[in-house]
Amino acid sequence: MTEYAFTPPQTIALPIINTDARFPVRRVYCIGRNYAAHAVEMGYDPDREAPFFFQKNPDNLDTSGIFPYPEETSDVHHEVELAVMLGAGGSNIGVDDALSHVFGYGVSLDMTRRDLQAEMKKAGRPWEIGKAFERSAPISPIYPVTKIGHPTQGNIALTVNGDVRQEGDLSQMIWKTPEIISYLSQYFTLAAGDVILSGTPSGVGRVNVGDRMIATIEGVGELEVQVA
Ligand code: MN
Repeated sequence: MTEYAFTPPQTIALPIINTDARFPVRRVYCIGRNYAAHAVEMGYDPDREAPFFFQKNPDNLDTSGIFPYPEETSDVHHEVELAVMLGAGGSNIGVDDALSHVFGYGVSLDMTRRDLQAEMKKAGRPWEIGKAFERSAPISPIYPVTKIGHPTQGNIALTVNGDVRQEGDLSQMIWKTPEIISYLSQYFTLAAGDVILSGTPSGVGRVNVGDRMIATIEGVGELEVQVA
């Protein structure tokens, strides 16, 4: 039996709808600018440039329904995203075979300290300080493929205090789920437990303490989060 210098951190595990089994998380990959209208609103050309990625930490995922306003920022933005959970992995996965690696899907928020991210972008530095902070990824329970199939179209939206802020359609994803998995697997060895946040439609914007966000993805589910 391994002797540890201190108690190992707890495995991060997400609830799965209608079962007691949990989904143990390994890594969290996030794709940037994957809806043309969002690329335009952030000041970029929406042409199909190669996808790019950043990561969050497994323990940034949060199913509590509470988003505590984070430290060191005055401009926190919501980004509603389809989350893809892998039940199998590998390297150099083909596009045609990619969906067989998906365990399920969820509704997630890629919460972003936009002011800090903007500083990092300007300086050509990594984005983690703007993206990978505590509880930065509120997420719904997982809806398994066996229940909902593979959503490729349908409304993806976010309201704040009842006002529609973000609205798009999954079919507007520049890089589709199988392409994202295939592309990532060329650069990383993917594995069961990996979570991929697949990008956000246009309409990102700031939230304040007391706001209530409701994220919905047609054919997947809903996520309600209170900013505290
Ligand atoms: Mn995002």
